[in-house]
Amino acid sequence: MKMYINGVWKDSSNKDTLNKYNPSTGEIIDTFPAATKGDVDEAMDAAELAFQPWSDLGTAERAKILFKANELIMQNRKELEALLTLEVGKISREASDEVDGVIDQIQYYAEFERKLTGDIVEGSNSKRKIFQYKVPYGIVVAITPWNFPAAMVVRKLAPALLTGNTVIMKPSSDTPLTAQWIVNKFIEAGMPKGVLNFVTGRGSEIGDYIVNHKKVGLVTMTGSTSTGQRIMQNASSNMAKLILELGGKAPFMVWKDADIIRTLKSLVWAKYLNVGQSCIAAERLYIHEDIYDKFISKFVAVTKKLTVGNPENSDVGPLINKGAQASMVKTVENARDSGYKILTGGNKPDLKGKYGNGYFFEPTIIEDVKQDSTLFQDEIFGPIIGTEKVSDIEELYKKANDSKYGLASYLFTEDPELMLDASERIRFGELYINMPGPEASQGYHTGFRMTGQGGEGSKYGINEYLKLKNVYVDYSKKPLYINTINNNIFDNL
Ligand code: NAD
Repeated sequence: MKMYINGVWKDSSNKDTLNKYNPSTGEIIDTFPAATKGDVDEAMDAAELAFQPWSDLGTAERAKILFKANELIMQNRKELEALLTLEVGKISREASDEVDGVIDQIQYYAEFERKLTGDIVEGSNSKRKIFQYKVPYGIVVAITPWNFPAAMVVRKLAPALLTGNTVIMKPSSDTPLTAQWIVNKFIEAGMPKGVLNFVTGRGSEIGDYIVNHKKVGLVTMTGSTSTGQRIMQNASSNMAKLILELGGKAPFMVWKDADIIRTLKSLVWAKYLNVGQSCIAAERLYIHEDIYDKFISKFVAVTKKLTVGNPENSDVGPLINKGAQASMVKTVENARDSGYKILTGGNKPDLKGKYGNGYFFEPTIIEDVKQDSTLFQDEIFGPIIGTEKVSDIEELYKKANDSKYGLASYLFTEDPELMLDASERIRFGELYINMPGPEASQGYHTGFRMTGQGGEGSKYGINEYLKLKNVYVDYSKKPLYINTINNNIFDNL
């Protein structure tokens, strides 16, 4: 696998490589370049040189390349789906769903081709105007996670490029292949040299160097809160604008009047999608005491029916890597030590053949979790969920909001007053009422608290990639009188 810098596919300048493993089998499937600082410098220089002609090209012309890239993705979507299964272990239905999302997002952003607007504001009189232009930041560094490695890449590439920025993309080291495939489609669609550069390598090594680089105008990163904090510290050196989409700890709230089957289907989606490795995954299950026993027994029953194994024909595939699997083992061990009851799951499944070395873990439900425990406070990011009974609405709001994260939340109720009240009281960037996610291209995906800052999607998301610049003009042709200076000194000049 290669990087793409200044219009050329290439290895790292010192030929250093890293391994990419198949999470379903533990086998090495490819190697990819570990970029050097010199490679990053070359990409920055190329992106700097390409910026002016690219931003001058105009939004409609840039959109044509995006539409073309989307066409190429649509024509070859089966390849991308297969790659998602190979590289992340996505089950086939989810791989296909992610590719639908990729296509939808590019389409959505490209359709802004003639819709971006600025403002003209009257100044201190009618012959004075303030033109508020929206201009690109320059070089955008796009850093993506592995959990939705295709969707996250286009969610950054499409708006950054459409708005006239040039880009340096750095994907997660767990998913370089998917990112390369997408980048290649943008290149094939006609991206001019230097506009889109693609570097791979350890985030902890070149990541700091990229973010600190003096040429960067904006850093858009999706990943963990700890990496986001580090990026924020690094970006203090160049004051780059930041869009940070970080961790989540979604409360899933089931009120006493909830439609049980609708709620269960949504919960199975929200908990087990991508093996729970999703920023909007349900991580805390709060259930009204009146229906607790009935609801939990049904949730345990459907969870037990989920098949775990080969992602091509199972309901639940592998976790992304060995470390993630070890973290699930540890989470359950800690739960057992704390005296919690494991209602189902809790182990690595006993799989035969090549999948025996894969990074699988059983869907797991842990009962009566304490609000202040790590299980309810820290991101699990796997197929484990804790439950708790609640008895009144104030208790529900208090517990749901008690999180350092603030991305997604879910509420199931038939009571319209509760829906409206919760819309105000639940302090999360997204509240899904009586429905599963995921976020839509036309929604603004954003979070409160340690989930970060800025957001993606909708007109608000696209405007994150544009800087508002002001030009003041006076076309009155009247003599200029400035009341804070002595105007007489200009007489008889
Ligand atoms: P991560 O923080 O480990 O890595 C994210 C990216 O940052 C990777 O490309 C990594 O190489 C890079 N990186 C690491 N150190 C860096 C540094 N010092 N400087 C610059 N870049 C660096 O996250 P992950 O494990 O890939 O993804 C999982 C996390 O992402 C979870 O916390 C999840 O909640 C979050 N996530 C959030 C959203 C959202 O929209 N809010 C969406 C998906 C995932």
